[in-house]
Amino acid sequence: MFCNEPLPKCPSPHFEHDSRGFAKRQRVEREIPWQERIEYCNRHRAETRIFPLGLQAGYPATIDYNQVLERVRSDEMNKVLIRLIESPCSSASFKSCAAEIAAAPNSRKWSSELSPVKTIRKIPG
Ligand SMILES: [Zn+2]
Repeated sequence: MFCNEPLPKCPSPHFEHDSRGFAKRQRVEREIPWQERIEYCNRHRAETRIFPLGLQAGYPATIDYNQVLERVRSDEMNKVLIRLIESPCSSASFKSCAAEIAAAPNSRKWSSELSPVKTIRKIPG
């Protein structure tokens, strides 16, 4: 719709709903705002490229919400969470953030002005 990438083979109902909505809007509006196009194409890309890889790797196609609490409380999940609490530096996310900070230690991205706490305080009301 907004790019030339192929469409997902099995689009989700959410993707189909968005596609129909944008098709309808494009007939009326001159241009869909770029933020909405990016959001749509991120889902488009995820459903075309990333979801099939996850399914191929054995991830479930749907979330069984009745099992989530039991899974979170399972020994397996507890081991992962305790390992993260006791050794946060071992997490892939932590390592990725540390590498980003090391590569650009003076980036404005890390300044206190852009910290979530200050940003939230700037929101009126
Ligand atoms: Zn797209």
